[in-house]
Amino acid sequence: MSAATPGTEPAAIDPIRQAPEGTKRVLLAKPRGYCAGVDRAVIAVEKALELYGPPVYVRKEIVHNRHVVDTLSERGVIFVDETSEVPEGALVVFSAHGVSPAVHTEAEERNLRTIDATCPLVTKVHKEVNRFAKDDYDILLIGHEGHEEVEGTAGEAPDRVQLVDTADDVGKVDVRDPEKVIWLSQTTLSVDETMERVDQLRERFPAISDPPSDDICYATTNRQVAVKAMAAECDLVLVVGSTNSSNSKRLVEVALKAGARASHLIDFAREVDESWLEGVDTVGVTSGASVPDILVMDLLDWLAERGWGEVQEVTTANEKIAFALPRELRKAGEHGGGTSDVR
Ligand code: SF4
Repeated sequence: MSAATPGTEPAAIDPIRQAPEGTKRVLLAKPRGYCAGVDRAVIAVEKALELYGPPVYVRKEIVHNRHVVDTLSERGVIFVDETSEVPEGALVVFSAHGVSPAVHTEAEERNLRTIDATCPLVTKVHKEVNRFAKDDYDILLIGHEGHEEVEGTAGEAPDRVQLVDTADDVGKVDVRDPEKVIWLSQTTLSVDETMERVDQLRERFPAISDPPSDDICYATTNRQVAVKAMAAECDLVLVVGSTNSSNSKRLVEVALKAGARASHLIDFAREVDESWLEGVDTVGVTSGASVPDILVMDLLDWLAERGWGEVQEVTTANEKIAFALPRELRKAGEHGGGTSDVR
């Protein structure tokens, strides 16, 4: 899997400055926080509010972040679990994680007006499923059971897709023709663990095909590379992100595997348990792809108040990628791209 993708420039890593023992400092990962797909999805909801006024319904959390969801709720967004909860004829936005064709059909049957904020990189995986299902492949989708993205992706061809989450699942897979099998993946997995799962699948199915291009997206990959670059220097890595955010949870795991002595996931600075800081010199800070940077800045302020005021940014890539707004909003005469107000 490649770290450099269109829109990403690998950066020369400045050596992490060595500090005398006992120096309290923060290493701040870059890239971190909002990815292009999250920025686009949040702007789509904001534009929908601006153009059509509240209430705007959103199926599932638009992105997996408590602060974003709470802020949009205060502005008149109603989050629902299922399309059936949206009143007939109302406006509903589909989240960045994507939906299955069955959800689109249900929305049509209920005469809902829809804005599809599915990240284009998730749509890419949907298209791969369609293409390989048409070519009669068995598709082994590596991903986390119950995650919305996986449900939407598998829903493109439920008869052809089998989910592979754990190592145990590898043994349970049943394919019709071992020569015609392909693996695809959720976009927000751990790069290293996914490759482990692929190796296990390849042992069972030596002829298994690889995806035409990486399914784990540039943002997930880049955030993992950045946290790996600094983890071994850190006594503690704090990852800002919500517990239902797959890529945020992966950052905790990656930090620990890469040598951090401890790592925790927090939504807000106030959730840091001060006992975590006992005996800690270097604190690593990063955030998941659905996290506005204001939450990271709050955490840096909180740490500075407690003596960790020296901050060195550890940059492993510069991201320049932006996606145009969903088609439905472009048609409404709005501009594409931009940056969300949810900060
Ligand atoms: S994490 Fe990746 S796939 Fe998910 S919204 Fe962001 S860019 Fe898209």
